Amino acid sequence: MKKNLLLLSSTALLFGCASAGSVSTQDEVQIGAQEAQQVNAQLPMVNDAQINNYVNTLGNRIARLTSRGSELNWQFQVVNSSDVNAFAIPGGYIYVNRGVIERASNMSELAGVLGHEIQHVVKRHTVKQMAQAQNANTGVGILCGITSVCNSGVAQAGIQVAGTAVFAKFGRGDEIQADEGGFDNVLRAGIDPRGMYTFFQKLLAEQQSSGGGGTAGWFSDHPGTQDRLADIQKKITQAGKLTGLQRDESAFQTIKARVNRMGPAPRPQR
Ligand SMILES: [Zn+2]
Repeated sequence: MKKNLLLLSSTALLFGCASAGSVSTQDEVQIGAQEAQQVNAQLPMVNDAQINNYVNTLGNRIARLTSRGSELNWQFQVVNSSDVNAFAIPGGYIYVNRGVIERASNMSELAGVLGHEIQHVVKRHTVKQMAQAQNANTGVGILCGITSVCNSGVAQAGIQVAGTAVFAKFGRGDEIQADEGGFDNVLRAGIDPRGMYTFFQKLLAEQQSSGGGGTAGWFSDHPGTQDRLADIQKKITQAGKLTGLQRDESAFQTIKARVNRMGPAPRPQR
């Protein structure tokens, strides 16, 4: 408890009335590391080295070639939730739910999701979001439930409620940027960016047939998916010939099988 308070205080010091532009990379990294610690402690994580290594390797393959590739220590982890979702926090920490791996048919579909989240970090949407949550007092963190500092406004950079990244709700403009940049990120890494399109299409189909369920979090955290499909389609057309790109690899199918063999994910507490 005491540790939480300390973390919150330092976050508040760094962020007090901050705008994204005034947060240095050094601060971003420090805040990200603290938040990552909280996320790791509060969310059920997949503790399978093979699965985590694979996602980390694939994520780094994409992230390293971005404009912030060497500036951040990119880290990728898998959350033990079968709901489909992914989120990024400042400093290059990316989380992807196992539900994404369960639904992805091939490596390029998982890569599309990672490329999108990476772009939120590259464009510093995560920093902007956090600063806004701090200023607007709108963040609702799980920390609020376990500490008494919420009313001070200090805890407004709090992070998670039951597996949903509360402050990771970006606007439609940021989402389009993340799609377009994410598309380029994946392509730059030699991976077929059409996986992003087919994966989003799959999510829409699931949402329409099941009325939400396991995809509700995705659609709430990533607004405008339907419109964005048309935008991604445009990127595909503009890209011209998409040949010689990697769509799948056996290592992906191996870890997907491992995920499928795991016991059921813990039910999210809502
Ligand atoms: Zn997004």
